[in-house]
Amino acid sequence: MQSATYNDAADVTTLEVAVNNAADAGPGQYAFLSFSGIGHPFSISHSDASRGILTFHIKAVGPYTRGIAKLAREGKLTLSLFIGPYGSLTVPLDNCSTIILVAGGIGITPLASILSFLADPSTKRHPLLRRVLLVWTMRGRGLLQVPKLTQQLADAQHQLGAACIQAEVQIFVTGRTKTEGREMTTEAPSALSSCEISGRPDFDSIFAAEKDAAIEKGGKNATLAAYICGPPPMMKASSVAASANNCVIHSEVFGF
Ligand SMILES: Cc1cc2nc3c(=O)[nH]c(=O)nc-3n(C[C@H](O)[C@H](O)[C@H](O)COP(=O)(O)OP(=O)(O)OC[C@H]3O[C@@H](n4cnc5c(N)ncnc54)[C@H](O)[C@@H]3O)c2cc1C
Repeated sequence: MQSATYNDAADVTTLEVAVNNAADAGPGQYAFLSFSGIGHPFSISHSDASRGILTFHIKAVGPYTRGIAKLAREGKLTLSLFIGPYGSLTVPLDNCSTIILVAGGIGITPLASILSFLADPSTKRHPLLRRVLLVWTMRGRGLLQVPKLTQQLADAQHQLGAACIQAEVQIFVTGRTKTEGREMTTEAPSALSSCEISGRPDFDSIFAAEKDAAIEKGGKNATLAAYICGPPPMMKASSVAASANNCVIHSEVFGF
């Protein structure tokens, strides 16, 4: 293992793992990692094929992942097993004119890899792609304090823009704040140059607006795809809105 960093605000451990098959990792894939006992599945957030490094972000939610956090905090985390990568996208990224990524909390991890893949100038071009929207919902701002993650998203947004693909990141912080319901103009504590909004996303309005805009630009041939990962209620609400607005859907469930 290359490095392990525990982030207290997010309760997330960021791992960089050196593997000899990093180049095989595709967008949205995952691997089984074990530090003790049975391996658990974690999405590959980022793949750096040139350095042979895969990045993972692991949220402490139960006994096993809390154990990972404790060892990382103490500088004692050792990876005993890596198996992967596994998984494939049920909706191919090619042939889409608009791609909407919907993440809830730590569900950002597979979507971060999709976003970076789309933005990577060295990967295959996506000739029809005109717009990418990331809607990331979180309870508090903890995840915005994971620099490697926010920097990755900001870099991808910038690279897409440089390739003339409109890229927008919308971050919805759903925990109650004084500014609920209106845009917060104070600087976000992250690398993201995006609009941070307090409150829940209105998926019906978001998907309807994306469909209308895609049809206006691309006519009847506009193709929209949604990639969704997060807690079940958010996945359900966004999937219903996505399918009502002609989106094909790939969803990733973090059930174990
Ligand atoms: C494809 C995929 C990708 C994922 N990517 C990420 C990611 O990027 N980041 C992230 O933070 N999380 C991710 N997850 C979720 C992550 O795998 C779980 O949160 C984690 O394994 C559960 O941690 P825990 O500490 O609760 O585990 P445990 O302490 O092991 O407990 C988890 C629950 O599973 C039960 N359980 C334990 N062992 C088994 C077993 N062998 N079979 C069935 N049930 C068992 C336990 O009783 C408990 O209810 C992903 C999950 C999947 C399926």
